Amino acid sequence: MIFLKSDEEIELLRISNQIVAKTLAEMAKLIEPGISTGQLDKVAEEFIRDHGAVPGFLGYGGFPKSICTSVNEQVVHGIPSEKVILEDGDIISVDCGAFINGFHGDSAYTFCVGNVKQETRDLLRATKESLYKGIEQAEEGRRLGDIGFAIQHYCEERKYSVVREMIGHGVGRNLHEAPEVPNYGRKGNGVMLKSGMTIAIEPMINLGSRNLVFEKDGWTTRTLDRKPSAHFEHSIAIRRGKADILSSFEYIEQILGNKAI
Ligand code: MG
Ligand code: MG
Repeated sequence: MIFLKSDEEIELLRISNQIVAKTLAEMAKLIEPGISTGQLDKVAEEFIRDHGAVPGFLGYGGFPKSICTSVNEQVVHGIPSEKVILEDGDIISVDCGAFINGFHGDSAYTFCVGNVKQETRDLLRATKESLYKGIEQAEEGRRLGDIGFAIQHYCEERKYSVVREMIGHGVGRNLHEAPEVPNYGRKGNGVMLKSGMTIAIEPMINLGSRNLVFEKDGWTTRTLDRKPSAHFEHSIAIRRGKADILSSFEYIEQILGNKAI
């Protein structure tokens, strides 16, 4: 069942997502060669709690940390650790959730660590762009397949591949709720979009093939061919017929300045 949200509920979701956006900006300040993903997790958890929220991912389905940190060929759900130290040339996706006032925020951004190969930077830029191509389709009267098609078409045109196993989702009082929001699809197919729907759109796009494997920790997924994967996510509402982005990359990109991809 898809829960439609009132304007008041959408504003509460915006508060949760703005805390996530600011937490990701704190990550932008710290991400550089030599920092561990465990340190990033500690700072994120403290920042979320200092803003009166609870980390939405901590304990979710047994997940042990407050953020997901997925480095290079890791796609999503990487577990932060003091043993994972970022190196020059890495990329890292940070996926973050914050729960406050009964609603979840959920957003992700893939960062460059120092000097990253142009081919990988291009993958990041295209993945972020594909997210906005998907959001453009999130209008009343269109269908979920229009979002997936827009993302898939944009990425495949550039010879990237779209992960199938993991997809976006409704977001609200639950971190994951109906409907499922795939990053692939056919125009005019699937659930019709309505005002009051709130969804997280999150393309996971690979430089090489789309195939994934699970790491031994039972959480982390990585590309089978070990080529890099990028992930960007916004939580949005369909409000008065149009997409309203509830999360934000503005705080992150203010920190990154001209280093933003
Ligand atoms: Mg997320
Ligand atoms: Mg999500």
